[in-house]
Amino acid sequence: MTTFDVERSPIPLLDLAEINRAVSAEIDLAWRDIRGHGRYVGGVEIELFESAFADFCGVEGAVGVANGTDALELVLLGLGIGPGDEVIVPGNTFIATVEAVCAVGAVPIFVDVLEDTLLIDPDAVASEVTPRTAAVMAVHLYGRMADMDRLLAVTGRHGLALIEDAAQAHGARWTGRRAGGSGHVAGFSFYPGKNLGALGDGGAVTSNDRELLGRIRRIADHGRSSTDRHRHDLRGRNSRLDTLQAAVLSIKLPHLDGQNSHRRAVMAEYRAALPPHVVPVADDPRSESVHHLAVVRARDREGAIRALEEAGIGWGIHYPVPCHLQPAFAEFTRAALPVTEAAAGRILSLPMSPTMTIAQVRRVASVLTGGRR
Ligand SMILES: *Cc1c(COP(=O)(O)O)cnc(C)c1O
Repeated sequence: MTTFDVERSPIPLLDLAEINRAVSAEIDLAWRDIRGHGRYVGGVEIELFESAFADFCGVEGAVGVANGTDALELVLLGLGIGPGDEVIVPGNTFIATVEAVCAVGAVPIFVDVLEDTLLIDPDAVASEVTPRTAAVMAVHLYGRMADMDRLLAVTGRHGLALIEDAAQAHGARWTGRRAGGSGHVAGFSFYPGKNLGALGDGGAVTSNDRELLGRIRRIADHGRSSTDRHRHDLRGRNSRLDTLQAAVLSIKLPHLDGQNSHRRAVMAEYRAALPPHVVPVADDPRSESVHHLAVVRARDREGAIRALEEAGIGWGIHYPVPCHLQPAFAEFTRAALPVTEAAAGRILSLPMSPTMTIAQVRRVASVLTGGRR
């Protein structure tokens, strides 16, 4: 690419087709193979991906499911959480974290996030524990790990489940342990835009608790007994990972660590090059982040967005209206969450992807500095 192109060509927030181009020949072969053999649900492709993903996360097992929202809901069902139970969730998260809690009939208890990382505040969690609390959702937002040490201390003290919402954190580490293997059980999403994305919807549950995984697998497959497919011991549903998607994910998984380290290089360049009025959200030094999103706090967000728009640079806001202020959850809103609410007015997501070049990062930074467009 010439200097001229770098200066002028648009920079998308994320270019999925570009990311998948590198593996498109392998994907074509896998799809032709599956089309030919005719086993479109279940089969060896599912088993291979589940075991590869469990190894990647450093856990005993993984269960492929239909999407990330289902993964979290199935985790709650598998743990027996339902009406009468409370589940503590951060206000600053994607809506699905809260939807899963409501879907099983439990009550979401919203807590605030830490000022520097915008991740769930363990002290706030501790102060919301009641006799009805059943679990805590550790959401690893933007690809950065929540403080698992302090969250495990709180959940351990009260005998609660610590569920990881790892939908944005495939491959992230907390003091060496991967997302998906740092709490009791985790839900992942393979939505196309996630760090590990399918060519459609997909999700997984990971855990070291084989019995829990077995129960979740049965619930996700119509409550079938593992030995007799016409006996239904549990009231289940249908939430399975497609065979075609499992094959795609197996092809993409070996590239994930490399792509995540490229995301870290992009983030490091942002930190070095952005002007002082555009500040990336902090990482906890005990974690290794995978930067699903490059989220900054901008002093003049409207001005920053205008500059990006004029330069043809993609942007987003994750998320403009915090979950506890969404009309759908009004009945669960109790207190203000000052850190979450203040952040919602300042945060801005800059382009971030494993195919982004350092020259593009510098151009984004220069546009936000008010320099040459
Ligand atoms: C994407 C996402 C989900 C839900 O995943 P889907 O596959 O889209 O259902 C849950 N939690 C978080 C934090 C997410 O980013």
